Amino acid sequence: MIEALAPSPRPRQVVRCRSVADVVHAMELAARTGEHLVPRGGGHCFANRSATDGIVADLSGMDRITVDAAGVATIGAGARLGAVYRALHACGRTIPAGCGDTVGIAGLTLGGGIGLLGRQYGLTCDRLVGAQVVLADRSVVECAEGREPDLFWALRGAGGGQFGIVTELRFATVPEPLACRIEGRWAASENLVTAWQDWAPDAPDELTVNLTVSAGHATLFGSSALPAATTRELLRDFTARAGVLYAIDIRQDVPYSMLKPTFSGLDPVEGHQRSRSEFFGRTMSERTTARLVRQLLGNRRLAFTAMGGAYNRVAADETAFAHRGERFLLEHVGDAPWVDESWGAAHAEGSGRVYPNFPDLALEDPAGAYHAGNYPRLAAIKKSYDPHRVFHFPQAI
Ligand SMILES: Cc1cc2nc3c(=O)[nH]c(=O)nc-3n(C[C@H](O)[C@H](O)[C@H](O)COP(=O)(O)OP(=O)(O)OC[C@H]3O[C@@H](n4cnc5c(N)ncnc54)[C@H](O)[C@@H]3O)c2cc1C
Repeated sequence: MIEALAPSPRPRQVVRCRSVADVVHAMELAARTGEHLVPRGGGHCFANRSATDGIVADLSGMDRITVDAAGVATIGAGARLGAVYRALHACGRTIPAGCGDTVGIAGLTLGGGIGLLGRQYGLTCDRLVGAQVVLADRSVVECAEGREPDLFWALRGAGGGQFGIVTELRFATVPEPLACRIEGRWAASENLVTAWQDWAPDAPDELTVNLTVSAGHATLFGSSALPAATTRELLRDFTARAGVLYAIDIRQDVPYSMLKPTFSGLDPVEGHQRSRSEFFGRTMSERTTARLVRQLLGNRRLAFTAMGGAYNRVAADETAFAHRGERFLLEHVGDAPWVDESWGAAHAEGSGRVYPNFPDLALEDPAGAYHAGNYPRLAAIKKSYDPHRVFHFPQAI
């Protein structure tokens, strides 16, 4: 497992919420006792922000999922991604979202939501059309475009646990595509890594291929909603640039909801590992790429996620998610001293921006890294909706 960045405190009380009234009750309890309260969805925050020594409002029992005739899905804030994909699949629909089966829809959406359909349909939060929220003063509000517009803006990508407890999320779903599952393996080389950086962020929106590089190995994996022949042609272009043989397996007609679990074995992580990440707006120099690849030993790995496409067709201030001009996200996963060294080497060429759902307690300027130019508006919204900072954690707005 990837190690959380802070030790996990034991809560004094966990309130297992099954209704909005239970959430309000948990908040009343915290107000009465003066204890710190945090909401928990899937419980996967890398910085343990859904843990506290006070009161945890555990929303996992609020996981109802329905889809109306217009394709709008109403999803309880405690639902997890695997259940979301399965329920939407039954209606022939889906949403662009992440890969982990047990990741919570609330935490993922509130911080953005990057996944295999994102280059085509945007972040998970870009499909959010409304939400129900219990505010710090324990009032319950509905927000949407034109209804509590500041709150609705802030919920789309600033990160969870900052403005209130979301109890329900509504998404404009998309038709579930039948996808090609893509997997290719080669020996790791800087040439391959440079070719991926030059190529993957500019591929057609329907084609997402990510790259993981570990000691000696490079694995390309992803999906395509294009016909298999077109997909093959595009991937041949990539292998020609990278100077490697076309060693790519394509499996056709896999429903998107069933594609994700097939990648779960691709990144085996042994023992406790640390992770740090950053966005990049341009290809790294060959010198830096070579240095990063050379340092890969044992369990260390670099994970490159392609951005571009629909992610970047939204203005940086249209939602709270500020990272709309990036080409890729690079994660360094492994032993702590190496992670810091590798991150530092790459950082000189990074954009200085960090994905709010991959919190990094070592950042010098977290507000700038997570929120960039959106920070002043977020700070004003925080002051208005949570003036007494009921919702707080290190690096919170
Ligand atoms: C195995 C794994 C795979 C992942 N894959 C992806 C991926 O493919 N794409 C991607 O973008 N990210 C991915 N992530 C990162 C993931 O998006 C974040 O860890 C996210 O914060 C997890 O949300 P959660 O609900 O599971 O976690 P939690 O720890 O429950 O919540 C995260 C934060 O949101 C707050 N929060 C939770 N519920 C609510 C609520 N109802 N109202 C208000 N605030 C709330 C919490 O207090 C906390 O601050 C992955 C993480 C893991 C561990």
